[in-house]
Amino acid sequence: MVELKNVSVRYESTGVEALSDVSLKVEDGEFAFVIGRSGAGKSTLIKLLLKELDANSGKVYVNGYDLTKLKKRKVPEFRRTVGVVFQDYRLIDTMTVYENIAFVLRVIDAPKKQIRKRVPYVMSLVGLQDKADCYPSELSGGEQQRCALARALVNDPALLIADEPTGNVDPELAYELVELLQGINACGTTILMVTHAHEMVRHFGGRIINISEGEVVFDEVIGGAEVEAE
Ligand code: ADP
Repeated sequence: MVELKNVSVRYESTGVEALSDVSLKVEDGEFAFVIGRSGAGKSTLIKLLLKELDANSGKVYVNGYDLTKLKKRKVPEFRRTVGVVFQDYRLIDTMTVYENIAFVLRVIDAPKKQIRKRVPYVMSLVGLQDKADCYPSELSGGEQQRCALARALVNDPALLIADEPTGNVDPELAYELVELLQGINACGTTILMVTHAHEMVRHFGGRIINISEGEVVFDEVIGGAEVEAE
């Protein structure tokens, strides 16, 4: 669950108000696209939801945590409830697909048995079961993207944030990724996907949150292209 109540974020260095009095709520199990031009405030929103940034005013709740009150020592515990797929994937070049994914569980001292079970499961979820021993450089762009997705899912996060995950792949793969995310969403994971690909958003439809100059200017559920065609 994500809830922002009258949130404003200002960067002190430039005085820019990146988010201005933003209120929005994304319920557990929802799938929402976040769209908006470059500089609209999308990255600021993501940083806020990961507690990489604090709001200057307002309240931020994510997965039952009140981020405006969250103690520093509780931040790692909170972050484990959120999975993130970054635009540039951020895979570790010297680790195989299996190791890249397992690493997330190793750093939190997860039991070996859990790692042996969970890693193959998420690899098969994204269709990478045959690539376990490959290094990122041996993967296609789409496979790297799915590896990043598997890594984001290995903790079984309640919320998955995807930051322009389709930015570096061709349109066909981008559509496949959204379909994959929809399947993951159908199993209960809340998904926020930030994207520039407005055409793709129109194709799929669903909840669209449009941010412009730090404000939510549109927040509605729209029908997809298939619906329009009927
Ligand atoms: P988007 O992700 O939609 O492109 P951002 O959230 O990155 O937008 O930026 C929103 C606004 O905040 C922009 O005007 C940008 O220049 C400004 N901004 C972003 N990051 C910083 C920063 N670290 N310091 C100062 N200003 C920033």
